[in-house]
Amino acid sequence: RLEDLLDRLEALEGKPYPFYKDLKGIWRGRGFALRFVYVQGDPFATPSVLEAIYPGEALEALRVYTREEGRVAVEDFLLRALKARLRDLPRLAGSGHSGAVRVEVESPKVLRRAGAHLGEGELRLRFRVGLPAAGRRILGREARRLFQALSRHLEAFLQELDREALLRHVRQAEDFAFIQERLAERGLVAFVGEGSLLPRESGVSQRPLKGAVPFQSPPSLKVAFRTPHAGEVWGMGLPQGLTLITGGGFHGKTTLLEALVHGVFPHVPGDGREWVVTDPLAQRVQSEDGRSVKGVDLRPFVHDLPLGQDTAFFSTEDASGSTSLAAALLEALEMGARVLLLDEDTSATNLLVRDARMQALVRRETLTPILDRVGDFKALGVSLVLVVGGVGDYLDLADTVVLMEAYRPQEVTAEAKAIARAHPTGRAFGEPRYPLRAVPRAPLPASFDPRRGRKEKVKGRGLRELVYGEETVDLSALDLFENAQVRTLGALFKRLGRLADGRTPLKALVERALLGVEDLFALEEAPELAWVRPLELAAAANRLRGLEVVQV
Ligand code: ADP
Ligand code: MG
Repeated sequence: RLEDLLDRLEALEGKPYPFYKDLKGIWRGRGFALRFVYVQGDPFATPSVLEAIYPGEALEALRVYTREEGRVAVEDFLLRALKARLRDLPRLAGSGHSGAVRVEVESPKVLRRAGAHLGEGELRLRFRVGLPAAGRRILGREARRLFQALSRHLEAFLQELDREALLRHVRQAEDFAFIQERLAERGLVAFVGEGSLLPRESGVSQRPLKGAVPFQSPPSLKVAFRTPHAGEVWGMGLPQGLTLITGGGFHGKTTLLEALVHGVFPHVPGDGREWVVTDPLAQRVQSEDGRSVKGVDLRPFVHDLPLGQDTAFFSTEDASGSTSLAAALLEALEMGARVLLLDEDTSATNLLVRDARMQALVRRETLTPILDRVGDFKALGVSLVLVVGGVGDYLDLADTVVLMEAYRPQEVTAEAKAIARAHPTGRAFGEPRYPLRAVPRAPLPASFDPRRGRKEKVKGRGLRELVYGEETVDLSALDLFENAQVRTLGALFKRLGRLADGRTPLKALVERALLGVEDLFALEEAPELAWVRPLELAAAANRLRGLEVVQV
């Protein structure tokens, strides 16, 4: 019982820190139980993991969802509410992480997280607590006070939930899912709701920019969805095919593209991007100097190198701007991406375009620019959204041209076509030598062995790096929003290592690895794990320098 726990804690006063280990197990409180999942070895180590367990009868008020995404939203909401609630626990002085209480939710994305599990019969919420000590001696009385306060919060937690806020959270996520699953059948790649606030306060902030110009759809692109909760929602529908986002510098082009990148996940109410909904199989691709590429058939974009080097099975430890972009495009196709998002700012120009003058000058062409592949992408059912301010050659081919002016989009497709006719580029659209297709690759199991080298070590470092054994995988070109996602990638790499057999294609492997992500979350003690898409898992694997593949 919880009272016994409090007495035990007090009795530990002054004892060496490892005595805390005796607390492992479940302690019953009023309306909930507290479980010590993991107990830290010393006050400086990563804090201990605790789990509050609520029984089935307490959960009626949480059954406000009508679909799986709604259930995930309830979980997400509960973690946020718990985090807010435990923020004002008394701070205590002590060594290391004494008294630190951490609930892991790092971004305004509504995600499946290891910290919360709402099942049929119970709810489990996991968080960390730094068990208090002075030096390495247990501060038992402090621990008692801390757990007393903690229990009071946990006891009242479900009764005192803000029900209105819970409903808003869940309805938002369900409406998001509703729109997202209808985009493709409506011929759209994305939807941006009227009044959305797209820009963020700063590059490192998740909060909407104050005083931002609210999003206003061009009349010609306006569409509506009749959502289950909010009713009719209006906004800009970006059609499939080739879309150009253009405009002068600083008019909000990149901001719109970024919002589309984020829009593959639902956002919490108040974020400003709640009604930005992007095809779930959209992926941003970009140039990435120095990345590793393994066994990609690059010929659709890079071919016939001067010294006869083969690009049908292309590997490099140090890709250039154009080869890295070519690899990223082909890897995305290999994974079944349906929408590719590119910004001219981060794309190698020579892979975007070869204009008429350069075509005339350069005879031994080794690059097929994306411009010559637009039709092939369309034939594969893959849409492109391109931010271009400087390259006019795309106007001929675009299905939709959106001009950003002072953060207001306008549709200028007709003008763009007229201009393209009035100012022909004189450019020859070549017939590429190699078809546009991605050759599936099967990783060898050794690729994902974190013990290669010496010691098994897997940990995330911010959003940009994953330490995996000897290697540090550079994730800066991936769109990850929480440290917890990076940690999940690490855990999933190990799983890929068990699943890989040198025959199964990467796409099937990552899908299989993610199928069991619920079990993974339950199995791992750490609460700092959150959902990643197959696209990001594959993108991370593709950047692993230890990756070895065969084409299948
Ligand atoms: P571009 O890519 O066209 O050069 P950006 O998207 O980088 O422009 O935007 C330039 C600046 O304008 C950024 O600092 C951004 O925060 C700000 N901004 C973008 N959209 C809005 C908006 N709707 N309201 C106010 N400021 C915005
Ligand atoms: Mg820009």
